[in-house]
Amino acid sequence: MRKDPLPLKEMGEEEKPECLSCTGPKPKPMKKLLLCFLFSLPFFSIIGQTIPPERIEKFKADVLIEVEKNATLGQQINDMLFSFSELGFQEKETFTYLTTLLEKNGFTLQREVAGIPTAWTAIWGSGKPVIALGSDVDCIPKASQKPGVAYHDPIVEGAPGHGEGHNSGQALNIITALAMKKIMERDKIVGTLMLWPGIAEELLATKAYYVRAGIFKDVDACIFTHVASNFGVNYGDGGYQGMISVKFNFEGAAAHAAAAPWRGRSALDAVELMNVGWNFRREHLELTQSSHYVISDGGDQPNVVPSKASVWYYFRERTYPAIKTLFDKGIKTAEGAALMTDTKFTYEILGAAWPAHFNKPMAEVTFANIKKVGLPKWSEEDQLLAKATQIEMKAKVQGLAIKLDTMGMPNPPGVVNIMGRSLVSLAGGSDDIADISWSVPTIVLTYPSNIPGLPGHHWSDAISMATPIAHKGIVAGAKVEALTLVDLFTRPDILKQSWEYYKTVQTKDQQYIPLVGEKDNPAITLNKKIMEENAPKLKPFYYNPARYKTYLEQLGITYPTLRADQKEAIQKLTTSPQK
Ligand SMILES: [Zn+2]
Repeated sequence: MRKDPLPLKEMGEEEKPECLSCTGPKPKPMKKLLLCFLFSLPFFSIIGQTIPPERIEKFKADVLIEVEKNATLGQQINDMLFSFSELGFQEKETFTYLTTLLEKNGFTLQREVAGIPTAWTAIWGSGKPVIALGSDVDCIPKASQKPGVAYHDPIVEGAPGHGEGHNSGQALNIITALAMKKIMERDKIVGTLMLWPGIAEELLATKAYYVRAGIFKDVDACIFTHVASNFGVNYGDGGYQGMISVKFNFEGAAAHAAAAPWRGRSALDAVELMNVGWNFRREHLELTQSSHYVISDGGDQPNVVPSKASVWYYFRERTYPAIKTLFDKGIKTAEGAALMTDTKFTYEILGAAWPAHFNKPMAEVTFANIKKVGLPKWSEEDQLLAKATQIEMKAKVQGLAIKLDTMGMPNPPGVVNIMGRSLVSLAGGSDDIADISWSVPTIVLTYPSNIPGLPGHHWSDAISMATPIAHKGIVAGAKVEALTLVDLFTRPDILKQSWEYYKTVQTKDQQYIPLVGEKDNPAITLNKKIMEENAPKLKPFYYNPARYKTYLEQLGITYPTLRADQKEAIQKLTTSPQK
């Protein structure tokens, strides 16, 4: 069971900062010495629970300036990760680049955490509170796309690409952390920053293992950032489905498919029968479930009865017990298929995610900061790219967001009444940040770096991700995150309330029971072959910031690039606006 954040460490004699660091309002001569002394000590330990609001405002103003100064670095990190285009568990270039960068900037690195070769933590500072900043880094299969081009034009045909925008979150977190570090050093603010990456998020495959490895055991709060097309933060039930990712491996016996088929027992038949069985079963499952599969191994060639075949399922539901029930039904269906084909099967868990629950006090503080920062100012070129992409994808032609979203309210777990039965509300999508949200007060801050109305997990979602749209979104997001960090580091009442909410509301009736067992291991070989094939093709296109200001410049792309018909369609829209 977690405790409240520990009191901040007392400062030893040798740590006493110089009065030079005082930047507060000028005190009157008589009180000067005392005030200077007060301001120069770690805030929580000397002033107890309160720092004058004007002092906090000064920190905030200063940290915003520092974030602005880091805008170019943010652009470089973003464009670099975009160019690496690495799939989950194979984020090798990303790993080397980010860990080197953070180490150079004074962070202490722990590499290959939780038994995952591309995972790491980067820690700076000392004492409590410990605030974690996380964001995903993996990309999407077959989503390679030139940035700034409003139609399908891959950098490398068939290669992975950032068709989700996970190249941007670490850029945001790092420029925030560096800005915050500067302010904390200057003003001797006590506390610790911990940066970490969401590895293989698209496979929902690591964060439960981070929790199991105890990476968050000393963390007091976690801010997770995720790309979107507007700012956002919510609390309570996150509206996610939890899920379990399972591969069923069937084993039969090989035989000549034409000369002696009666001697064979087809593992592929078992896979197909399992899928047929599951598809019939769907009609009689709760309406809140969703499940999908791919045949990850269907045999080698038609004239050999497949002795081995595998099918990979995602079973999604809205609550932990419902996920377990759905998974059990999946196992039963596999048993049935094995029985029908005289084959055997085993299964392996490749990933898992809980339904999420986000922290109310943290969300409220963050939302206030979103309102302060506001959306970036989009240029005409940005809007043009967005509209042309929306036309291309047959989405509503609305351009980029110019109005802030409201704060997300809880998706009430319950209350859809169907035929007198109370069902939890429907939802879609999962994120394994959920597992962390059950371990420590957590929020997800979404920031506007993408174009509204796109399908998601698609090459079109990569179009904006190494352009000024993403770059501006990162800086705006970093400002919100930095302001929130100032709040968390200087106002212990917020963390106290966050833990109260965690204990008395979030975990009152629900305890976290991991979906991954003690014997399960991170599926670190996933995507290995695909990346081995594609990394050499992508390498010539890796971003070189020493030679090119931006990745757009390196690729020689005119921003934005539109086809003649797209330009014409936009022209028509401006003369006769959409109804
Ligand atoms: Zn994502």
